[in-house]
Amino acid sequence: MGGSGVARGLRRSGAGAVEHFIVTEELARARAPELVGRIGINLVGPTLLANGTDTQKNRWLPHILSAREIWCQLFSEPGAGSDLASVSTRAVPVDGGWRLEGQKVWTSYAQFATWGVCLARTDPDAPKHRGISYLVVDMRDPGVVVRPLRQITDEAEFNEVFLDGVFVPYDRLIGTENDGWRVANSTLSHERGVNPRQLVVHMQLLEELLRLALGRGAFDDHRLRARLAQAFVEVRLFRLHNWRTLSKIARGLPPGPEGSQLKLYWSEMSKRLHDTVLTVLGPAAPLWLDAAHNPGGGAWQRSWLYYKASSIWAGTNEIQRNVIGERVLGLPREPRPKQTPPTAREIAS
Ligand SMILES: Cc1cc2nc3c(=O)[nH]c(=O)nc-3n(C[C@H](O)[C@H](O)[C@H](O)COP(=O)(O)OP(=O)(O)OC[C@H]3O[C@@H](n4cnc5c(N)ncnc54)[C@H](O)[C@@H]3O)c2cc1C
Repeated sequence: MGGSGVARGLRRSGAGAVEHFIVTEELARARAPELVGRIGINLVGPTLLANGTDTQKNRWLPHILSAREIWCQLFSEPGAGSDLASVSTRAVPVDGGWRLEGQKVWTSYAQFATWGVCLARTDPDAPKHRGISYLVVDMRDPGVVVRPLRQITDEAEFNEVFLDGVFVPYDRLIGTENDGWRVANSTLSHERGVNPRQLVVHMQLLEELLRLALGRGAFDDHRLRARLAQAFVEVRLFRLHNWRTLSKIARGLPPGPEGSQLKLYWSEMSKRLHDTVLTVLGPAAPLWLDAAHNPGGGAWQRSWLYYKASSIWAGTNEIQRNVIGERVLGLPREPRPKQTPPTAREIAS
């Protein structure tokens, strides 16, 4: 069954979060490619369910499930990544809606997307978290220009997107005007929730690593043996973390800021696992895709490079640590740096 067929099947059966987790796990186990509509299914769908009007849900949800319409996430900008509330894309009021002016960046799948969820400033005079609205952009509008960005793996999965006078009618506002920060947080909490696909990908990676290690005699080296054992334990822990968050979602609770713990854990685990792979590869580690005598034909090295990004996407690890510190552990926020240089008296005291 193709990805969209699975989605239709789940919809018909009224399946919930646990079934969605299992189906995603099974697709990954069968090494099926990632669902082309994953941003729609994982991020936009849940955001629409929580914040959309009935008309918006009826218009967009069926085509998200069937993958007839692909979505992208127009959040990050050149000057607003970690500090997302600093977005400067302007939504200027015009007859019947707004016109967008600005630039987005790192937009995955923008080259395939029909629609994009976009954070834009509707009130430039309001405090930064309060003047943002959550708008749906028609990616086929002539004012949308998408330019691919080449990544370290030599692929171009994400893009920069220029918005030049793009019209957005009122009925494509999700939530209320200037309430976009709250809606964006509901999207972000799903981005950092459970991750069945990454779970299976890393379980498979571990199995392949252990086979590679056996073949190359890596277990004879006591330092490598310890690292392989650590990799085994960490992937098992990743599974338990996923199950704990899934149980919470299955009880109808939002993933919440604890999702940051899971994101932080697995991205660090992934990098350690990949470093162990390259150590086991030994002299073959620096080889690239079509080099001779390269076990795995370059797939290991590509994966090592690709997962460097895991501690950046969906919020960097520094930001996840801030969220855990402030919103999970309730630690005080870091004091703001002084705006003025210290006086001589302050220096002396
Ligand atoms: C593969 C990939 C796909 C992506 N896809 C999308 C997408 O589809 N849509 C989208 O909108 N975005 C996407 N992004 C963008 C991603 O969300 C941002 O890259 C991320 O939020 C970081 O923002 P930035 O790159 O502007 O870095 P910056 O915010 O400029 O951060 C630079 C460095 O400073 C650190 N830093 C910043 N602020 C703090 C702080 N307060 N405390 C401590 N350290 C701090 C950061 O941790 C980082 O190390 C994607 C990124 C990647 C890598």
